Amino acid sequence: MATVTLDQLRKVYPNGFEAVKPCSFRIEDGEFLVLVGPSGCGKSTLLRMVAGLEEITEGELSIGERVVNTVDPADRDIAMVFQNYALYPHMTVRKNIGYGLKNRRTPAAEIAAKVEEAARMLNLTDYLDRKPAQLSGGQRQRVAMGRAIVRDPALFLFDEPLSNLDAKLRNQMRIEIKALQRRLGVTAIYVTHDQVEAMTMADRIVVLNCGRIEQIGTPSEIYHQPASTFVASFMGAPPMNLIEASFAEGAVRLADGTAVLTAPSGRSGPITLGIRPEDVRIGDGETTFDVALVEELGAHRLLHGQVAGQPFTAHVLKDSPITRGQHRVALPREALALFDHQTGERL
Ligand code: ATP
Repeated sequence: MATVTLDQLRKVYPNGFEAVKPCSFRIEDGEFLVLVGPSGCGKSTLLRMVAGLEEITEGELSIGERVVNTVDPADRDIAMVFQNYALYPHMTVRKNIGYGLKNRRTPAAEIAAKVEEAARMLNLTDYLDRKPAQLSGGQRQRVAMGRAIVRDPALFLFDEPLSNLDAKLRNQMRIEIKALQRRLGVTAIYVTHDQVEAMTMADRIVVLNCGRIEQIGTPSEIYHQPASTFVASFMGAPPMNLIEASFAEGAVRLADGTAVLTAPSGRSGPITLGIRPEDVRIGDGETTFDVALVEELGAHRLLHGQVAGQPFTAHVLKDSPITRGQHRVALPREALALFDHQTGERL
């Protein structure tokens, strides 16, 4: 087990591109930390610096008490699980799982015992003599996990390990990985661009945008108190509604003049107003929702349309009688988030 400390860690690629801007945070012992953000935001680069696969341009990286900037990947006491599993096709599951140990000259009996133990944990016992080609995608993913587990590392690193699996298997595997990490008590850093994975697996989430940390927090903090419009729109499906509004005449007003909130004194000018689709109250209220489309999702429905001339989505239960057309809506003040119109930062 280990803590991981990033102190002003920065990555500039040889072509001059700054993929990770100076970045500091600490991962606690046994914590499951998820790095999430859109494609190209620098999450793999950050993970690869921790793994030792990418040179650190500036800053200091410690695993436990040890600064590891120049320590070889093999000596960092980490195990990495990749998107493509990186299994050896000509080797059996048993050999694949034990490969890293064999390389380290671990005695054969110890390798056999560790492989059996990992296979039992991962429900792979019946597949130990198969080759990767004879396995399903989920089983292959488990073999990759097995290979990481037997090394008994201080730190697990995952780089989008589920992105090659279909949706159902992904759901199942994310529960398995999380449960396994809990059971082993090992510190984990997990990279994904999937906000559902981030929300469901993380103890804490780091949201990255253009090589910069937008927010660090628990899933609940990130979802309910987004630090910026970027986080508000990246986390949540459908995302938070963000509509143009303004401070005017002592109130926060929608574009059609409707007052939705008392404004702090002395404020004026444009702002961005945020509300989650599930927080919208339909059927009564201060403004009008022009519903253009009702999207049927089984357990619930999404209503898409416009409020005060701007795109807007609301979430309603499956038995809601709301149909296309105009409806009164309330935007409960406790559910409203205000963001700076220009910077997108939460006010
Ligand atoms: P994805 O989800 O698509 O894998 P990511 O968030 O993991 O994206 P990175 O792979 O870390 O992003 O890349 C971050 C940025 O650095 C991207 O803009 C990418 O084009 C750039 N980049 C990556 N590798 C290099 C390199 N060797 N030289 C120059 N730029 C690079």
